Amino acid sequence: MRPEILFPLFAPTSTLKGVGPRVAPALEKVAGPIVRDVLFLAPSGFVRRPVTTVDQVREGEVQTLVVTVEKHQKPGRPDLPWKILCFDGTGFLTIVWFKRHGDHLLKSYPVGAQIAVSGKVERFGSEIQMAHPAYKVDAADVAEIPSVETVYPATADLSSRRIRTFAQEALERAPELPEWNDPAWLEREKLPGWREALTVLHNPQSEADVSPLARPRRRLAYDELLAHQLALAQRKAARRSHPAPAIRASDLSEAIEKALPYKLTGAQIRSLSEVRGDLASGEKMSRLLQGDVGAGKTVVAMLAMADVAAAGMQSAFMAPTEILARQHFDTIAEPLAAQGIKTVLLTGRDKGAGRAEKLRALADGSAAVAVGTHALFQDDVTFKALALAVVDEQHRFGVSQRKLLQEKGEGVHLLAMSATPIPRTLELTVFGDLDVSRIDEKPPGRTPVATRAVPTPRLLEIVERLRAAVGQGAQAFWICPLVSESEVADLAAAEARAKALRTILGFPVGLVHGQMPAAEKDGVMADFVDGKVPVLVATTVVEVGVNVPNATIMVIEQAERFGLAQLHQLRGRVGRGNRESACVLLYDPPLSETAQKRLDILRKTDDGFAIAELDLELRGGGDPLGLRQSGFPAYRLADPVVHRDLIRVAADDARLILARDPQLTSPRGKAVHVLQELFDWRPEGLTDAG
Ligand code: ADP
Ligand code: MG
Repeated sequence: MRPEILFPLFAPTSTLKGVGPRVAPALEKVAGPIVRDVLFLAPSGFVRRPVTTVDQVREGEVQTLVVTVEKHQKPGRPDLPWKILCFDGTGFLTIVWFKRHGDHLLKSYPVGAQIAVSGKVERFGSEIQMAHPAYKVDAADVAEIPSVETVYPATADLSSRRIRTFAQEALERAPELPEWNDPAWLEREKLPGWREALTVLHNPQSEADVSPLARPRRRLAYDELLAHQLALAQRKAARRSHPAPAIRASDLSEAIEKALPYKLTGAQIRSLSEVRGDLASGEKMSRLLQGDVGAGKTVVAMLAMADVAAAGMQSAFMAPTEILARQHFDTIAEPLAAQGIKTVLLTGRDKGAGRAEKLRALADGSAAVAVGTHALFQDDVTFKALALAVVDEQHRFGVSQRKLLQEKGEGVHLLAMSATPIPRTLELTVFGDLDVSRIDEKPPGRTPVATRAVPTPRLLEIVERLRAAVGQGAQAFWICPLVSESEVADLAAAEARAKALRTILGFPVGLVHGQMPAAEKDGVMADFVDGKVPVLVATTVVEVGVNVPNATIMVIEQAERFGLAQLHQLRGRVGRGNRESACVLLYDPPLSETAQKRLDILRKTDDGFAIAELDLELRGGGDPLGLRQSGFPAYRLADPVVHRDLIRVAADDARLILARDPQLTSPRGKAVHVLQELFDWRPEGLTDAG
């Protein structure tokens, strides 16, 4: 239940003065539908309004001057400006009004009055002018004009100035709230109270106040991070209380591991033991296995599935595309079969009697492992005893799809896998409700991909080399970026590139793109995997995780347009065998300094986690790694990059608060409850505690 003290903040913005039926929708677009949203709307910038004198003015800058009105110069024609001549003892200032002028100016600027005006000062010939002052007050009230003024994200329908008025009013509505933070910590960090921090947010007194590193801003960021971490911790706790079958490490999986043609890496061993710890706990596992493309996640999942089979239960291994599902099946079916574990492959292609047979094997438990696509969670698929859901490339599935699969059993453990490395600093915000294992070590014997940046004018050279390499049996990916606003135009570019390559090379060149029907895409991919087509032109849709050991060349056009993490992932599609591989980053010169740095990073390292970390630093604030679409929280006041030092503190704090007072009944608990209701966080996580 929402505490009464918050009611004024949860009222619709139409309760603010000046917000009518026309303004409300515009304000909703910028901030949100309720007063709280306006209160939490962080300014996008600021202007300084230093007080100065006419002889000291800086042309082109916004300044405040205290002057005496000398005389009015009425325009002879309505299209000419109305001028008000003023003097401050050091020189003359002409206040200028275009269009909206009239005799009312005589009243508001009476001759002889001492006034303070603020606005942009410009010089025209010998005249120093200020057009349409943003502020005009009595000279005695000059202090009312802010020396630093906030600027809000304005739209065509709503000016920054109006938003500022609404923000001020929202601020007036904001009550003093009970302190939810530890007072000793606040004092140590010298952080102000909540309301005071908001006051500074909307009324900065200096440039320092405007910095995201300013204490008031850090305070607000911390509150938001804490509210989020509390929600995540509660989810995690709720999930923990869900019982699930306790599954122990088995001789079966040990035998499979022994039979592998390689030894597990240290990171694989560690991840596997973390997974096993969860599986044995009797509580539902929700674990994310993070690891670069090629890090070897599949084998970890396979061994966990073997443990489940040994316990007489079943696993489902879901991949986003048919071709990936098939590859996983080819990888794991045999080693599992060698220990008497039957695996079935279930995709959209299965029809009729063959499908019925597979469904029967899952329903009666004779198959302990199902590998497949979306086909796995269809209504008529039933399991005898599903205990583990493995979801590969987890971001490709919706929460509801993962849930549908997990609902095919009682207390189904979840192992989600992802090849998108998230910097450690951000892990807590993106996957705070999950336990995370990282495979941060590559299997030995991989040759790093030789990476070069080449300007586009030298494209033909690259094509010639490609011809030579393909002539010797190599295969290549050629990535065309999605660059224009129109997908049709992008597609046309990719088609044109494929055609040009076909003509120049004289080899078959495949093409896959986002708008292709899945079956057709799978068909082209399969031809590439089988080596029938040596070159594959693709928009960025190339399936993450598809294994084409024979592909040793990756060409990426307009590489400067891709994010680092994405480039790294694309590159990860080659260099999987033990043959020398190459990645060519084509770019349109000249490169910006940042673009240059990014391509340099890529040339120097192939550690996905390190790259993600560096990418984060290079990008600074905003939406690092373009994560917002993939469940990254859209904070209003916190910047997960700038305030990253606070994330860990907030996570620890949240855990401690809930450990001491899970029902939030103590005085601090009650205040924390107000905080949670204030942010009203309903995170969409990977899992749903229900
Ligand atoms: P990803 O993490 O991208 O899913 P995969 O599980 O597909 O990676 O593994 C990539 C390749 O590495 C596979 O061919 C697999 O057999 C191989 N592999 C996995 N673990 C090891 C290891 N410890 N040593 C050598 N090769 C390994
Ligand atoms: Mg994989």
